[in-house]
Amino acid sequence: MYSIRLWAVRHARFLEHVYRLFEPVVVNLQPLWNSVGYQRAEKTVGKLEKISKELLFDCKMCGQCVLISTGMSCPMNCPKSLRNGPCGGVRTNGNCEVYPEMRCVWVEAWDGSQKMKDGDKIQVVQLPVDHRQKGTSSWLRVARNASNSTQGHKNPSR
Ligand code: SF4
Repeated sequence: MYSIRLWAVRHARFLEHVYRLFEPVVVNLQPLWNSVGYQRAEKTVGKLEKISKELLFDCKMCGQCVLISTGMSCPMNCPKSLRNGPCGGVRTNGNCEVYPEMRCVWVEAWDGSQKMKDGDKIQVVQLPVDHRQKGTSSWLRVARNASNSTQGHKNPSR
């Protein structure tokens, strides 16, 4: 799994492109999510997301995916779960202070972001992780947020 995770970072540009194609599909499926109900869709979509992202990124299903801003390196693989890194303990060889045999997740994030078109997003400060979202689908969250913002535009008084 670790080698696949490193592969994902090396191919961050390609995966960014795939995500850019995938995101509108999930958003445009809003009528389906609405008719099935987000809670019911969660079971199937969440499972699919978990399987694919565990394989590619060692995803921990935090429910608030930031891969697109972190060079396709999942910050939840940082032993300190830092959403903004690296910490001061990163070794001179770029490895983690807690797991010396592992490359620092944030060094990887920087490398991956340099390959991406929107790599500057790594400069954006991420909010602390909301543990209440753990285990939920980030894909559906993106669709739900898009739906809410469309409704907001339609009903600006809300
Ligand atoms: S940021 Fe969260 S959802 Fe994205 S890959 Fe990491 S654990 Fe999974």
